[in-house]
Amino acid sequence: MDKNLLITGGSRGIGAATAVLAASQGYRVCINYLSDHAAAERVCHQIRESGGHAIAIQADVSNEDEIIRLFAKVDAELGRVSALVNNAGTVAEQSRVEHMSEFRMLKIMMSNVVGPMLCSKHALLRMLPRHGGRGGSIVNVSSVAARLGSPGEYVDYAASKGALDTFTLGLAKEVAGEGVRVNAVRPGYIFTDFHALSGDPQRVSKLEPTLPMGRGGLADEVAEAIVWLLSDKASYSTGTFIDLGGGR
Ligand code: NAP
Repeated sequence: MDKNLLITGGSRGIGAATAVLAASQGYRVCINYLSDHAAAERVCHQIRESGGHAIAIQADVSNEDEIIRLFAKVDAELGRVSALVNNAGTVAEQSRVEHMSEFRMLKIMMSNVVGPMLCSKHALLRMLPRHGGRGGSIVNVSSVAARLGSPGEYVDYAASKGALDTFTLGLAKEVAGEGVRVNAVRPGYIFTDFHALSGDPQRVSKLEPTLPMGRGGLADEVAEAIVWLLSDKASYSTGTFIDLGGGR
């Protein structure tokens, strides 16, 4: 089967680490990003320097028109996707629920829930045999927040990841007999720029002493699990979750 992989939010952090690792294992990679074109091009350059194949495409995955444009470009420039990582996600400043705006909640849900569901829809239209596809694999990037709830910080974000977990379970069962596997990873505190969005860029370093392993995680450690779930090595795994929380 072709190994054509689309990673949403592949320009930085966990998505970028996944793109580099997957390319080293023979995937032709599309790195989607929201606004940081230079970062996306740096990841592509790194992959090409190592002999891999990568393209970068800008699109906001919280908007279906942009997702349709993204998949059409991937069809033309890479070929029909056989693998999708729903990695793009966002969070807002730490806040109690009574101070959260409707705008904030909708933005979190559109980016972290509706976006992955729509990207999965358009991937399935290319993966499912009933639509001319040859099967495939989807990995959703959830969070340990889905089972911890993030009280006093970002319950909206945690709820969005809980919804993503339920989507993972349901979709996995829906397409299990049609050659498409759907799984998820749930990272804990990982060293990326993500925490700046919550107003605390040093968050992982500060909280390290409270973690069972005594340290934050690395994007590369999450990428290993994602790429394993994508691969045929995980051929009997669907609807499953790998937690990468250092014991949290
Ligand atoms: P990051 O370093 O902030 O990178 C986020 C990536 O997502 C960037 O490539 C960004 O593009 C892209 N992005 C954001 N919104 C997008 C949109 N609407 N459309 C397209 N691309 C979008 O984040 P990260 O830490 O690697 O997080 C990746 C995933 O892991 C997220 O789903 C997050 O919830 C999850 N996660 C992270 C942690 C952690 O501790 N870091 C823990 C648990 C779960 P630009 O570069 O253009 O902005």
